[in-house]
Amino acid sequence: MVVNKYKIREQNESLILKGIIDHKNISRAELAVLTGLNKASVSSITKTLLDDGLIFETGIGNASTLGGRKPILLQFNPKAALILSFDIGVDYLKGTLAYLDGEAVVTIQKKRIVVSSETVIALLQQSIKELTVKTDSLIVGMCVAVHGVVNQNEIVFTPYYDLDTIDLHQKLSDHFEFPIFIENEANLAALGEYVFSLDSKTLVSLSIHSGIGAGIVDGGILRKGHFGEAGEIGHSILYPNGKKCPCGNRGCLEQYASNSVLYENLASIKGLEYVDSTIVQKLVESDDEKTAAALADNAFLLSIGINNILTVYDPEVVVINSSIYRNNPALLSMITTHLTSRFARNVQIQNSKLGSQATLFGGIALCCQNFLNIKELKLYSN
Ligand SMILES: [Zn+2]
Repeated sequence: MVVNKYKIREQNESLILKGIIDHKNISRAELAVLTGLNKASVSSITKTLLDDGLIFETGIGNASTLGGRKPILLQFNPKAALILSFDIGVDYLKGTLAYLDGEAVVTIQKKRIVVSSETVIALLQQSIKELTVKTDSLIVGMCVAVHGVVNQNEIVFTPYYDLDTIDLHQKLSDHFEFPIFIENEANLAALGEYVFSLDSKTLVSLSIHSGIGAGIVDGGILRKGHFGEAGEIGHSILYPNGKKCPCGNRGCLEQYASNSVLYENLASIKGLEYVDSTIVQKLVESDDEKTAAALADNAFLLSIGINNILTVYDPEVVVINSSIYRNNPALLSMITTHLTSRFARNVQIQNSKLGSQATLFGGIALCCQNFLNIKELKLYSN
């Protein structure tokens, strides 16, 4: 193993690694052409990568047109290291120990728990213990997703729990030697889509649950803005002087189009004590007209938010991450129908393939980008 396993990988090494990852099978000669590095450098770097177990030799390629020996091909080894990824909500924790390609080794989920500045460290320590008890493989990073604004690992604002009152990054760094990242959950969901699900260069991912957040990725880099608050599309104003929002504005999109608001509205319309995604589905399946109208209304309001995203970020793809939209693909066509401006002509609107796991995948993606020192990292296999 390398002497300092957490040092930032040297640029040429990352270049070679990226060539191997992108091409699946590639020879040293092809790598030299691809990267512009000379053959001696390619040989030396690939030897280090082989020694570290990050790549392996596989099969024999075709001989060049000039004849000569058939070259040995190189392949990336995504099982060379492990990553810890957590998603911490107000009353739940989801965690995974996964390989570099996102394949989970162990996952845990704790529901109906109290997450606060008092409990979070012990909770994470216990969860890490549970996840790593059966492994002694190298862990190269850990990411913790929180529901709130995060700027450079500092939790700035968490409206629904008090994690913004402690330095979680420092407290965790005191306990563990591997690199640790704290990031907003919607940002991570977007990064998860970029690395593990889509081949697009720019994308916006909309995470819709109790609020509406967006993550913006451009060339593998999260666009978070100066204060870490870019993509807070749920707080764009839909109705001037509308409903009050905890952010200080009135009439914010998420006060009208979030899943929680949809559930509340349906509960009131149908005279039910509470509504969740399962109940929505039952209502949809029973062809309930009022439910259909509420969903159509939700799609219309959301299309206004998406229209605003298109004008500001001009992405190739907008990914919608919502259990309601995943269960009812017809809603997606409704949104597309409402997007009539010339700015919406070429954009692809689609449901998330990673679904409720997108944030955890995003944590793995962030650690993986850091460990390999590759921003434009694509690890999906299809
Ligand atoms: Zn707001």
